[in-house]
Amino acid sequence: MPLRLYNTMTRRLEEFVPLDSTRVGVYACGPTVYRPPHIGNFRTFVFNDLLHRYLEWKGFGVTFVMNLTDVEDKIINEAAGMGVSIGEVTAPMADAFFADLRTLAVLPADLYPRATEHIDEMIDIIERLEKRGHAYRAPDGSVYFDISSFPTYGRLARIEAQSIRSGAGLSTRAGGIDADEYEKADARDFALWKGVKDVDRQVGAAWQTPWGEGRPGWHIECSAMSMAALGSTFDIHTGGEDLIFPHHEDEIAQSEGASGEPFVRYWLHVKHLLVNGEKMSKSKGNDFTIDQLLEKGYSASSIRYLIISAQYRKELNFAFDGLDTARTAIQRLLDFERRLIDMPTAADAPLSRLHEITEHALHDFEKAMDDDLNTPNALAVVFNFVRECNAELDRDTPTARAATDAARDALASMDRVLGILEIARVERADVADDLAVWADGMVAERQEARRRRDYAESDRIRDELEGRGIVVEDTPQGPRWKKA
Ligand code: AMP
Ligand code: ZN
Repeated sequence: MPLRLYNTMTRRLEEFVPLDSTRVGVYACGPTVYRPPHIGNFRTFVFNDLLHRYLEWKGFGVTFVMNLTDVEDKIINEAAGMGVSIGEVTAPMADAFFADLRTLAVLPADLYPRATEHIDEMIDIIERLEKRGHAYRAPDGSVYFDISSFPTYGRLARIEAQSIRSGAGLSTRAGGIDADEYEKADARDFALWKGVKDVDRQVGAAWQTPWGEGRPGWHIECSAMSMAALGSTFDIHTGGEDLIFPHHEDEIAQSEGASGEPFVRYWLHVKHLLVNGEKMSKSKGNDFTIDQLLEKGYSASSIRYLIISAQYRKELNFAFDGLDTARTAIQRLLDFERRLIDMPTAADAPLSRLHEITEHALHDFEKAMDDDLNTPNALAVVFNFVRECNAELDRDTPTARAATDAARDALASMDRVLGILEIARVERADVADDLAVWADGMVAERQEARRRRDYAESDRIRDELEGRGIVVEDTPQGPRWKKA
């Protein structure tokens, strides 16, 4: 069955046909490492992971690249404010980012290039753009892209180049235009390179180039890192919807302007996670980090489940009750898995309908995911599968071992894409360990209370243990506890 993806460039669902199915190249715009990412960012990163996992599930060989933006306006401001170098700001934030990725069971990318390690490639692209008549130098040492030299500028965002005036609609974030401070010929042009300022030198964000000292614009970073890793033309480029313009529009202009070849074949963009109808963002202060949610007692599996409960191009509003619902849903899956394991089986049991149900589920799951990674439909397939299997198991005891094994394999196969149970199993094991540690402590306290003949206290402890499903037995060797 063919995979279909919504290509922002054509605004259509298209069958995905890679340049080379053994090496599908994917580049994902990664985090700006100056603060811990919030779960809005993780809507985009978990989507990347689903894409990565599903391409592999379909049998493609994948080269997955995600960059780290480690030099950029906000990082420089942060470093200047703290009186440290940009590396001192970005190193701990990169570590925290990777820890969050592990928490959410995001598959590691093949490469995590960092902008500061690709300055030479950026210089090379800018030189090629100059030679090909797409770039010019300003007196302050900055270099700009000349939009008028690139007639298809605006094709991705569907913006007429003529309508872009005086920085209107152009990003003011890193690498975007700052109409007051940089000297360009046309207000629509964007900076490829920014002439050095004192603060850049202070924080170690200044590099020598043939045209003087300075630092890269944000957009050139991704052109350089993606083409260095995947070549001038590659299959898929992803990011949040805010990156369509100007970031990705500018990447296309720079990359195609320098190479003379088509840049990206499929552009995929993730709709923003909302909070009370507003975009979740650091600047609005309505954001939550993974750690904050874990501290509140929510689990990583619930966070991941909530994120994938909506298709990536559909609206998703963050709410705590969504995390509660997720928890209940995941428990149903774990209970089902447990039931399959514990199910009495017999080699000579008649072949049940389980096989048929399992095959249908896998087929429907693939159909849902092929439809532009429709995760809510894929989850519906999983729960339908659980319901039908349970009904069959209620009827059919014992069941053929081969049939329960096939059902378990199917569940595991679908979870190889969804990545929910693999986190939840570990969480449950952790909870089980925590419970054991707690029970040991309580039993010791009860013993201590009995020794000082405080029977009211020892009874209270026994009740508290029973409240969590633990019974204490007094044996000649001392007290023992077990689960009721
Ligand atoms: P940044 O660290 O700001 O460069 O963002 C990293 C990624 O997260 C980019 O692909 C952004 O488009 C994406 N992003 C930012 N805010 C949100 C949000 N509220 N929902 C989904 N993705 C977002
Ligand atoms: Zn980027």
